[in-house]
Amino acid sequence: MIVGILGGGQLARMLVLAGIPLGMRFLILDPSPDASGASLGEHIVAAYDDPVALARLAERCDRITYEFENVPAAAAQWLASERRPVHPPPAALAVARDRLREKDLFKDVGIPVAAVEAVEDLYSLQHAAEVVGLPAVLKTRTLGYDGRGQIVIAETEIIEDAWRRLAGVPAVLEAYVAFEREVSVIAVRGAEGRTAFYPLSENVHHDGILVTARSRPDDPQQARAEEYATRLLDALDYRGVLAIEFFEKDGELLANEIAPRVHNSGHWTIEGAVTSQFENHLRAIADLPLGSTSPVGYAAMVNLIGEIPDPTPLLNMPDVHLHVYGKVHRPGRKVGHVTVRAETPERLETLLEDVTGLVGIPL
Ligand code: AMP
Repeated sequence: MIVGILGGGQLARMLVLAGIPLGMRFLILDPSPDASGASLGEHIVAAYDDPVALARLAERCDRITYEFENVPAAAAQWLASERRPVHPPPAALAVARDRLREKDLFKDVGIPVAAVEAVEDLYSLQHAAEVVGLPAVLKTRTLGYDGRGQIVIAETEIIEDAWRRLAGVPAVLEAYVAFEREVSVIAVRGAEGRTAFYPLSENVHHDGILVTARSRPDDPQQARAEEYATRLLDALDYRGVLAIEFFEKDGELLANEIAPRVHNSGHWTIEGAVTSQFENHLRAIADLPLGSTSPVGYAAMVNLIGEIPDPTPLLNMPDVHLHVYGKVHRPGRKVGHVTVRAETPERLETLLEDVTGLVGIPL
């Protein structure tokens, strides 16, 4: 089976690494000649909306998926219209790349969200600030990731400046949530609606970038997160892995965003679950049975941001696994991750402290 992937970053790389043992081959479309995942498969270097490149994918691939929300939804739609099976459905991509549509979908299926208003101009931003209240977070509707395209507005005096800094693009204003913690659920739906969920991930972000994710088997919010995920899988007629990020506040889960793809908060599943999110995504899109999502001990992932540390002390530790993405190092860029696994949550915390110390990330 040949699987086409739109996007050739580290998520494509880990999909390929999971798919090769299943006998899959990969054709990867990414405009960057040195895309980290593309070197593992056959790489088409072209824009995501290049008609010749898309026609090649349609002709050669048995299944097509994507690893990046900012792929134009029209490209995925065109591939689907050529009768190539595209999973997850292009409609999920169209929703996930637009924060307003995403929030509307959450509301439509009864998932709680923080107060949010659409913003088109300075006047509507001023109005939104009154409705939503301050502090609030101004976010571009599209193309934001890892905290980019976001500005916290703490007081009315900076509204004008915030609008200028966002360069006047369509946006949303969301109430700032003083959450107790952030969690995400990774769900997967395969052929004939078979569905499975991984244990919740508890996630810590610094400056909008994910730094650590811990597996939380038996989390008290698991059932609620699965219920919300099921509503989204149904509404989107979904196939593949879907990640949903939540804020937990006063015992409630407020949905923040979805990712219609494998997700950074699920990287611990490579060593910390019976079947990784990457393998299950491929099984789901290829009509294969889903693998068990049961946890293997307690696991946590630490992102390597900007640079790869000396691997020796890390790899001298028990049950520590290093993943290097082969990307050019740049400040703020995710260039690898480390997974730590332990038999008890207490032991996991001790190991995690040692790893974050070596990596230079505060816990
Ligand atoms: P996002 O790109 O929406 O996932 O935002 C990245 C991170 O910024 C989140 O994971 C939170 O840590 C923080 N953040 C985003 N929106 C809010 C909000 N409305 N209230 C508080 N923190 C937020």
